[in-house]
Amino acid sequence: MPTVTICGGGNAAHVLIPLAHAAGWEVNVYAPHDDEAERLQQGMARNGGLRVLFEDGREMIGQAHKTSANPAEVIPGAALVLLALPAFAHGPTLEAIAPHLDPDAIAGALPARGGFDYQTEAILRRASKAARFFGLQTLPWACRISRYGEEVTILGTKAVVDLASFPASEAAGVAELLGGLLQLPFCPISSFLALTLANTGQIIHPGIMYGLCYGREEETYAREEIPHFYQGVDSFTAEKLQAMSDDIQSVAAVLAPAVPGFRPDDVLPLYDWVCRAYAGDIADESTLTSAFVTNRAYAGLRVPARAGEDGRYRADFTARYLAEDVPYGLVVVRGIAHLAGVATPALDSVIKWAEERLNHRYLDGDSYAGSRAPQVFDLNALSQLVESHLLQFEER
Ligand code: NAD
Repeated sequence: MPTVTICGGGNAAHVLIPLAHAAGWEVNVYAPHDDEAERLQQGMARNGGLRVLFEDGREMIGQAHKTSANPAEVIPGAALVLLALPAFAHGPTLEAIAPHLDPDAIAGALPARGGFDYQTEAILRRASKAARFFGLQTLPWACRISRYGEEVTILGTKAVVDLASFPASEAAGVAELLGGLLQLPFCPISSFLALTLANTGQIIHPGIMYGLCYGREEETYAREEIPHFYQGVDSFTAEKLQAMSDDIQSVAAVLAPAVPGFRPDDVLPLYDWVCRAYAGDIADESTLTSAFVTNRAYAGLRVPARAGEDGRYRADFTARYLAEDVPYGLVVVRGIAHLAGVATPALDSVIKWAEERLNHRYLDGDSYAGSRAPQVFDLNALSQLVESHLLQFEER
């Protein structure tokens, strides 16, 4: 029986454990955060396994063989290592697991977000490990834990998910392996550069936060008044989302002739992506606004908010919709656009608004410090970006 190790103990990890178990894999979990390893173990023991509730009423239950906060106990022997984590946890997790990876192990992030390849290649190289990894364009599910270690609910499943692999020649094989593991279609795309630009979470999450909260940052709400997130998309928000998507299309168009092996068609405009990923879930596809507002996979989710001492809720700008998708998304694309000499006014306006909320300057000077932009990995010219990109096509 092959072994898969899942890194993380959040929503996505809760879905992966029963699915991988049902597909015939031995499942181990690396969960060093807080006391998650112990709580997962206890929850599964109480419940006779971890139950996943699908949106169509199906259920599945499955067990992890071993959960641990020590990578030496759960990484050796794994053929596949899945990072089911927010992007800010990729670096520390990869640093911890790299020394324990088997020579043939494949690691992958669900989802990769931007610049995953720069960071992962560097960490594996420092650990003298072969660079074999993949990234998904998005998490295949919208999912939330209902009871920790016991039950998770899937709100929606994407129709198809794009995947990039390093080396690129292994993408088709990895897509088939994952398809068998998760019973979903995965579509190999040309390169990690395309995956970084095609990350629609970086448009949707910060773009909707901006659309709904710009100029209303201090507004407070009773719990039931917290605005709906996706269903709250109005014409102002949709225009901003469209402008952000257009900026990214401009970057892809300029890179296309300059970067061998990069296919701009892999970078779908936002509207095309939403309609493809949520085929069957959208009641009215006529506009970008209606594709969000009538998307049943998005129904009911609200702006992340926190209660103050007065019991009123305020938008939570520290939540991952900005804290993950700005430094590991928009700022990465902005760094690439900078190297390609392309202006990105819509991305810049959202990044600058988010900088105030996150209390961090990403665009001061050219360092992009605190992000996963190429400049952070010493890629300071388009020629260096191209050189780094070409590594994934090298024969070995
Ligand atoms: P989550 O918030 O449930 O996962 C958090 C987990 O990450 C924690 O439980 C912990 O195990 C780990 N973690 C957090 N900080 C850490 C740190 N500093 N060091 C080590 N581990 C740490 O996240 P999720 O909902 O499972 O999402 C995983 C990824 O999928 C994220 O990139 C998210 O944006 C993306 N995503 C999620 C959904 C969804 O519906 N859940 C939908 C689309 C995309």
